[in-house]
Amino acid sequence: MSAEPPVEAPARAERRAASLVVLHTGDGKGKTTAAMGIAMRAAGHGERVAVVQFMKSGRWKSGERLAAERLGIDWSVIGEGFTWDSEDLDRAAAIARAAWDEAAVRIAEGAHDVVVLDEVTYPLTWGWVPTADVVKAIADRPAHVSVVLTGRDAPGELRELADTVSESMNEKHAFDAGVAAMKGIDY
Ligand code: ATP
Ligand code: MG
Repeated sequence: MSAEPPVEAPARAERRAASLVVLHTGDGKGKTTAAMGIAMRAAGHGERVAVVQFMKSGRWKSGERLAAERLGIDWSVIGEGFTWDSEDLDRAAAIARAAWDEAAVRIAEGAHDVVVLDEVTYPLTWGWVPTADVVKAIADRPAHVSVVLTGRDAPGELRELADTVSESMNEKHAFDAGVAAMKGIDY
């Protein structure tokens, strides 16, 4: 049995938005890569893009960070030296708050057309950064600033605020079969 091709034209858009809020959440692979895809699109159009990465060590550079440098994307990693192995949760929380302070400035200053908050949901889940602060900063943003958020378990308030929400589902992942993260594919 095969599906029928669509015979009706899709609904026409009725208006243009000055900016959008896009949220990539869920357990499947592709949240950060989707956000970087948007960053690449925007940069390709000559738009100004900022990425603030939460919860990542600044000691090594992912492929997306190296590519972003070539595209003139402003990249902030707060928490130089922090890793998932850190046992110092107070320090991790302080780093997350510093990252949020930086992100809040990036959003409010209006110097970028797109601000990516990568892995922003984790400090919200762990209570290190108040979700209400993030919601307010995004709601009060300059009209032209689009915000792209990633991370698992996005809180309901962010899902409500976002114009576009994708929940990725983990059908399978090579990691579960014992395959190490692969350069160029996973980082
Ligand atoms: P990516 O950066 O590949 O788009 P992601 O942002 O959706 O992934 P994260 O939870 O941020 O997912 O995880 C980042 C790293 O973990 C990446 O190397 C990614 O390939 C890997 N990963 C993502 N989803 C899974 C999963 N369901 N099981 C195991 N590893 C995963
Ligand atoms: Mg990610």
